Amino acid sequence: MYLRVSVTDRCNLRCTYCLPERARFAPDPAAPDEIDRLMAAVCAAAGVRKIRITGGEPTLAPALLQHIRTAAWLVPTVGMTSNGVLLAGMAGELRAAGLGRLNISLDAADAAGFRRATRRDRFAQVVEGIRAARAAGFAPLKLNAVATTDTDAPALARFAIAEGVHLRFIELMDIGEAHTGWAGRHVASAALRDRLAAAGLALREEPERDEPTSRVWTIPGVDPARTTLGFITTVSDPFCATCDRIRLSSRGRLHTCLFDERGTDLLAPLRAGDLAGLDAAIRRAVAAKAPPAHFRREGVMAGIGG
Ligand code: SAM
Repeated sequence: MYLRVSVTDRCNLRCTYCLPERARFAPDPAAPDEIDRLMAAVCAAAGVRKIRITGGEPTLAPALLQHIRTAAWLVPTVGMTSNGVLLAGMAGELRAAGLGRLNISLDAADAAGFRRATRRDRFAQVVEGIRAARAAGFAPLKLNAVATTDTDAPALARFAIAEGVHLRFIELMDIGEAHTGWAGRHVASAALRDRLAAAGLALREEPERDEPTSRVWTIPGVDPARTTLGFITTVSDPFCATCDRIRLSSRGRLHTCLFDERGTDLLAPLRAGDLAGLDAAIRRAVAAKAPPAHFRREGVMAGIGG
């Protein structure tokens, strides 16, 4: 199993498809030690081999290094997804704490586009964060861009080539803030590749490079060890049949699908000291993991993690 842990639902950006400007965050998140204890309980009950720390924005979590150390003690592979704003000051520490893989979300390749996408002026900090992450030894470093009708895919691809990083486009999902006008903003991966080709970036399909959730293409003339493009086709070609992801929210709930809105409360048995009940609740939830009835979620992504 692959566990994603949202260590905080707070965020320092307001991506238009993710959080409203006046986002309201959960008043009752799990405490850092509770998150770590739940992470350990889920690993033991569900046979987790890989953990990704996410959020909200994980670099805002008060005990991020502690969460990474705990995760690195529990499983062989620990990754994190961040918006990169605060990374420049902490990339080295994260690596030393045991973080092995890092994905940085970036939806635009210039300051104006970044502001439109995130409602904040932090493009320069993110670029600094990307460079600091590379200098700290995170390789391969991946950028994630959510594809919408506003996305300048060729500019992002050229940015990735110039920075020597890999780029993954995520199809916009009908979740939270993205719901209003979703159909009009969604761009399928095939249409995105057409746009790239029209801009002179004809890609080559390389199925042997595919990752569990992304179809990977190379760019003729570009070293694939430095830069490849990938497409996460959550909407146009869902990968439920092979999905082994489960998610622990910042409120201590276990969700066995991104679209499993309710989840299972793990904090109550933990706080009651009912460790057998906690273990049983996790096992029951994981055994019932199934593809969603519909690919839609009312709540925002931040609490459950992307
Ligand atoms: N703050 C971190 C970051 O920006 O990477 C981690 C949390 S963020 C919720 C995780 C990922 O979810 C980001 O790549 C984000 O762009 C993506 N995301 C959020 N809402 C989405 C939506 N409606 N459809 C597709 N991806 C979405």
